Amino acid sequence: MAKKAGNTVAACPCGGSSFQECCAPYLEGGVPAPTALALMRSRYSAFVLGNEGYLRETWLAKNRPSGTIIEKKDPVKWVGLKIIRHQELGDRATVEFIASYKRNGRMMKLHENSLFIRENGHWYYVDGTFF
Ligand SMILES: [Zn+2]
Repeated sequence: MAKKAGNTVAACPCGGSSFQECCAPYLEGGVPAPTALALMRSRYSAFVLGNEGYLRETWLAKNRPSGTIIEKKDPVKWVGLKIIRHQELGDRATVEFIASYKRNGRMMKLHENSLFIRENGHWYYVDGTFF
């Protein structure tokens, strides 16, 4: 993720060098994320950008929360995503990550192993286990 000289391109919230070339096609272009890892990164970006519709869309229907996904009254400020490892096996995949955020001025970490499955060519978030 080296910065090019004179680069005025907005970085992707997930840590990618350019939002347009990273998560934007999935979040804004209607392109399905080709891998569970790409979906994981784009869902993190959706949390950062407050794109609740995308989070709902990419959540496995039977696990999809009926209520609010992004808390607006007491929002957390996401500050970074670190992918620890990811494994894809056929139509199932896991992505372990640490997402850092600030709540009430305190740095916190969310360490999760997320499960994804692929249905009809689309990856969906199933659920996560926490460390
Ligand atoms: Zn991204």
